[in-house]
Amino acid sequence: MGVEELPVQRFSFLSLLRNALRYRKGWQRMWRNPEPKRRYDVVIIGGGGHGLGAAYYLAKEHGVRNVAVLERGWLGGGNTARNTMTIRSNYVRPPSVPFHEGSMALYRELSRELNYNLMVGRRGMIAFLQGTAAARTAARMANTMHVYGANYELIDVEEIARRVPAFRPPARPRLPLLGGVCQPDAMMARHDAMAWGFARMADSMGVDIIQNCEVTGIRRDGNRVTGVETGRGRIDAGKVGMAVAGHGSVVAEMAGIRLPIEVQPLQAWVSEPVKPFLDQILVFSGYGCYMMQSDKGELVIGGPTDPYPSYAQRGTFPIVEQVTAAVLEMFPALARMKLLRHWAGVLDIVYDGSPIISRTPLDGFSVDVAGAGGFKTTPMAARMHAWLIANDEPHELIRDFGLDRFERGRLVFEGGVSFNR
Ligand SMILES: Cc1cc2nc3c(=O)[nH]c(=O)nc-3n(C[C@H](O)[C@H](O)[C@H](O)COP(=O)(O)OP(=O)(O)OC[C@H]3O[C@@H](n4cnc5c(N)ncnc54)[C@H](O)[C@@H]3O)c2cc1C
Repeated sequence: MGVEELPVQRFSFLSLLRNALRYRKGWQRMWRNPEPKRRYDVVIIGGGGHGLGAAYYLAKEHGVRNVAVLERGWLGGGNTARNTMTIRSNYVRPPSVPFHEGSMALYRELSRELNYNLMVGRRGMIAFLQGTAAARTAARMANTMHVYGANYELIDVEEIARRVPAFRPPARPRLPLLGGVCQPDAMMARHDAMAWGFARMADSMGVDIIQNCEVTGIRRDGNRVTGVETGRGRIDAGKVGMAVAGHGSVVAEMAGIRLPIEVQPLQAWVSEPVKPFLDQILVFSGYGCYMMQSDKGELVIGGPTDPYPSYAQRGTFPIVEQVTAAVLEMFPALARMKLLRHWAGVLDIVYDGSPIISRTPLDGFSVDVAGAGGFKTTPMAARMHAWLIANDEPHELIRDFGLDRFERGRLVFEGGVSFNR
């Protein structure tokens, strides 16, 4: 079924009310709820944006439709549902910028392509340059972005204050504020909608999306993958791809593979809603934290990862305190706002800060490890993972993101927006 043939559902307020009272009777399912088949050409482990996207691109671009996505919980309930939705391409290393720029280009078209409103919006991001090391890294980043045609601007403190009227440069900052680097094309998109859009379209092309189906083992015959063991029985597969952010080391271990990653919690929180006063995403690079205002008016605030390995999907208060102090230094007027909600996810932190999309020593088993900032890369990483599965070799855009970089010492160090490397 193509995009144009999918049913478009239109609701007025009255029809919503009627459906609510009838407990959704008559609503169409967005995707089927199939029983797992005994065998698939490809099994993807992990029903987040990366796994669902890989299944979608396998079906759409490579004609591989006998595919199952196995999700141990509910679809999109992992980090896909927990991130703060920022999408940008301001990176320092040459392989990173075209990869992230490509992902942004895919995002701009994704609502149309999936016939599903992902609420993609251009917001702009200003990273505050706090200290000379940050300014030096930002200058290098700007040069790399310039080479690859990405849009950026280096601005001074007065220009930040002009673009963000609520901001007054602090009189006695803890770190010297030297200016900012702005990416006007940085975006935000609705995270759940991205997973649902991919799922609906993949399902319409024949992909089986199987929830409540935990993978507990990887089957092999010699050095070739032959399928998976799951809580719902054995499933054979010609190829197996993994996209399980936060659990990469656990699943890879089932295949006898050790990945160069560490699991760390990352948390974020939102304030009570207030009238719109902030249209940019602000990053306080020296403090490793960021803030923006959601469409609902809440301030969305996030900080660095908790500095220890953990699978607990909750963060600790010292980070909240540290980040709140940083935000209040820049915006003292927010001191009396109330915190509304707080949550966390667990991330596979890759040693060099870049994603891993790669073949592995086990033939037919591939991995997509999103790393710390994998919402922004979702469409591109998924598309490249699908390419890798279909062609048995990496697309040139991800040649530098293979596992072999850790053996060859060709790491792609990215410190993210904290400019700390
Ligand atoms: C607080 C927070 C803020 C963030 N902010 C941003 C941001 O602003 N921008 C950005 O780019 N990124 C951000 N990220 C990172 C981003 O959320 C992730 O990198 C991205 O969502 C990873 O997507 P995924 O599909 O790989 O993983 P997930 O959405 O986590 O999907 C993986 C799925 O695999 C399933 N799974 C695990 N083990 C098994 C198993 N054995 N069998 C079957 N299924 C299994 C899980 O249940 C999960 O649903 C943030 C993350 C957090 C936690």
